[in-house]
Amino acid sequence: MDIQLSGIGMTSARTRDRLVQRLRDAGIIDERVLDAIRNTPRHLFIEEALAHQAYDDTALPIGHGQTISQPWVVARMTELLIANGRPTKVLEIGTGCGYQTAVLAQFCDALYSVERIRPLQDQARKRLIKLGLARVQLKHADGGFGWKSEAPFDGILAACARAEIPDDLLSQLADGGRLVMPVGGDRQQILTVVDRDGDKFHVQSLDAVRFVPFQRGVMR
Ligand code: SAH
Repeated sequence: MDIQLSGIGMTSARTRDRLVQRLRDAGIIDERVLDAIRNTPRHLFIEEALAHQAYDDTALPIGHGQTISQPWVVARMTELLIANGRPTKVLEIGTGCGYQTAVLAQFCDALYSVERIRPLQDQARKRLIKLGLARVQLKHADGGFGWKSEAPFDGILAACARAEIPDDLLSQLADGGRLVMPVGGDRQQILTVVDRDGDKFHVQSLDAVRFVPFQRGVMR
């Protein structure tokens, strides 16, 4: 899926290049991912009052106690998810404002994204349509159960943290597929990669990160 940028007010190229350079300095090496970060209009995913910070490498509030992920985190998770090759079908847990969704959509053929807070999902849908990403499938549900009717997925990415990876997510991972999720307590977590090989799950613990919690149930 290509992102449509025509008609969208782009903030200055220099501001975006500065962000990309920062991410490079912070260890992001996949140039395809850096290009996607450069091309994805992050200012359209946050409220106007915060737009001047859109290309800073920080998380920002998006309402309902949630945040838009930090660009470094989005880049790192995307880089990890596609490291073994382009996934065909991807499941994202935690659509939030839709920013990570818009980046991910550029690296897979089909993207399914679950969000538990309805107003966030509604706003994300509008933005994704505006960017020409209407093909992303969105569901209002508790992502802890995955998206069974569409499983298996060759990529699963969760943008919220829990002490343990939900069993449903592991069982919905395709053979040869990869899951990326922050695992740990409320204050700090470890970005964790799980590769499935038949009945075996190979786990790698990578970077220290800080995410909002992976909660239970839905909010209207
Ligand atoms: N990548 C998003 C990050 C949003 S923060 C962005 O860039 O905006 C994480 C999101 O996960 C929040 O919107 C939160 O509501 C959502 N979330 C938390 N627990 C969830 C669950 N069980 N199912 C679905 N979404 C969940």
